[in-house]
Amino acid sequence: MPVICTEGIVTRYANYRESDRILSIFTIQHGRLDAKARGCRKPQSPLVNACQPFVFGQFEIFTGKDRATVNACEVRETFYPIREDYERYSIGSVILRLCHDAAPENEPNEALFSLLYHSLSFLSYGTSNPQDLFCCFLIRFLNTIGYRPSITVCAQCGRDIRSDAIVRFSARGGVVCSACVQHGEPVSKTALEGMRRMLLMEDADMDRVKLSEQVRNEIFGALSAYTESSLEFGAKALKMLESLRTPTQHEPETPDQEPH
Ligand SMILES: [Zn+2]
Repeated sequence: MPVICTEGIVTRYANYRESDRILSIFTIQHGRLDAKARGCRKPQSPLVNACQPFVFGQFEIFTGKDRATVNACEVRETFYPIREDYERYSIGSVILRLCHDAAPENEPNEALFSLLYHSLSFLSYGTSNPQDLFCCFLIRFLNTIGYRPSITVCAQCGRDIRSDAIVRFSARGGVVCSACVQHGEPVSKTALEGMRRMLLMEDADMDRVKLSEQVRNEIFGALSAYTESSLEFGAKALKMLESLRTPTQHEPETPDQEPH
């Protein structure tokens, strides 16, 4: 019976029977795999710590003719701080969900794996605002899976818009010039430059992103709408984050502020 040893991150699970789980593991070498973990919900199981979402580990998996089975796992990182904070947990769950849905089955995608690994690392141990990190994750995620929005040329006529006074961000394609689209709020140059830089950086530099509240809201709004209209998945996950967004200046003020 073939056995594979691979590093991976648990993206999802489903309980079944009394103490078993079916895990989805996004692995570096084999893409997404679904595998049974027998008895992993028993407190004395050697797999009890491994069969949780966010866990990064070295998995030993049997791949028989039926469903694959997790034989063993050496946990490398649990990204525990994500669980200790509501905002980080919500954002981490959405990142995990988007990567789960985009990860190809039985086929590697090392760039997407690296993006997921770095995003969870910075969400746990980084210093940037979790929402800034999410904006950076989202545009890099879209780029990695082949849905990069247009940032420097109009998505409709293809003209370079970098010197235009007024441009807008369309949920269909990205930035558009004012000759092509006349309605809707314009997008700021700062937000566009922010998105362009986030695309160019390395995964290891994602923790450096620092956005003002206004630019963060612009980028989050633009990319969420773009993601919803471009992908067949992700809309439900992104809705989970709406409650985290701080109100922009023209909306009525609410007393709750982000905790420090
Ligand atoms: Zn145009």
